[in-house]
Amino acid sequence: MDTPTTPRARDTEAVHAGRDDLARQGLHAPPIDLSTTYPSYDSRGEAARIDAFAATGAEPDGPPVYGRLGNPTVARFEAALARLEGTEAAVAFASGMAALTAVLLARGALGLRHVVAVRPLYGCSDHLLTAGLLGTEVTWTDPAGIADALRPGTGLVLVESPANPTLAEVDLRAVAHACGSVPLLVDNTFATPVLQRPAEQGARLVLHSATKYLGGHGDVLAGVVACDEEFAGRLRQVRFATGGVLHPLAGYLLLRGLATLPVRVRAASASAAELARRLAADPRVARVHYPRIGGAMVAFEVHGDPHEVIRRVRLVTPAVSLGSVDTLIQHPASISHRVVDPGDRRAAGVSDRLLRLSVGLEDVDDLWADLDGALGRRTAATARREETARN
Ligand SMILES: *Cc1c(COP(=O)(O)O)cnc(C)c1O
Repeated sequence: MDTPTTPRARDTEAVHAGRDDLARQGLHAPPIDLSTTYPSYDSRGEAARIDAFAATGAEPDGPPVYGRLGNPTVARFEAALARLEGTEAAVAFASGMAALTAVLLARGALGLRHVVAVRPLYGCSDHLLTAGLLGTEVTWTDPAGIADALRPGTGLVLVESPANPTLAEVDLRAVAHACGSVPLLVDNTFATPVLQRPAEQGARLVLHSATKYLGGHGDVLAGVVACDEEFAGRLRQVRFATGGVLHPLAGYLLLRGLATLPVRVRAASASAAELARRLAADPRVARVHYPRIGGAMVAFEVHGDPHEVIRRVRLVTPAVSLGSVDTLIQHPASISHRVVDPGDRRAAGVSDRLLRLSVGLEDVDDLWADLDGALGRRTAATARREETARN
């Protein structure tokens, strides 16, 4: 893949990265390579390419030997995301959880099974660490406690910022400093590289559930880790051996999604900020969480029954997941964070009254009209709160 000689702005990269060779090939849309295997009459050459991959995990020159080693369409998405995140490489997986699994396996293979993590995390990430399914042992701490929680067998520090679902933010630069030589993984799913590039602040690994904003249309399940080439090599080796590869069609859709990522994130964020303002001023809402860096996610706690809000939305779709062109709402305690122990969940700030809204590209007044209806009638209690708020 060609790399540009002059520096380009992120918006330009979003449209052109991973596609720089196309025009010279007489192509406009990137080709989708569905091959599972790649013919070669030179089996001595293949042996050398396999040896080279086994040694470093570097992408083989020329076509891959087999689809599990790499795919040219997926490689375009990986190259583009690496440029957006400002890293040397990126490695794509079948889902966000497959990506996190590969990171934990890569560290575990070195005997580094201890992980230090800050809550809240996405519910299934929390579950993967807590349940010890991969032999991981986790120490939960707040950002200020990270340095003290590190020990000789610590292989990874894991944070999300803004975190799922409370949108709590951590100071990435300070956390990276506290990690010393232990790799810091930042789950950047909520911010996207449009709002935040953790590698510039000292993170060694930047993880995305690409299912969310990178795909952006609710029709691709994918994960990706952006990092330095050395770590990427280990992740490719784990991916090759364990098989959590991304399908080439998904790679194509993700590359297409990246082209509109900056425009989508900025438009949805403007609506989210406006909805956060209106929710904060509404007496039926107890508390609104909206991150300082902005973004298209809003979390809020209602005075009434959150299940009723979910039942009453009409334009907004009541569904888990986020980052799509359409607006979604869900109740984290029931769905996205159900697998987290209720005590741990509440201690991490995930109240039973919390709702998580992923704002899409609809007209903001239409969204507000739907939320207003879903929040229900102003009861005598809300009228009293309104009265108190005015005085
Ligand atoms: C959804 C999500 C994941 C998991 O990604 P999948 O693609 O669903 O496997 C990880 N981290 C965050 C922050 C998420 O929102």
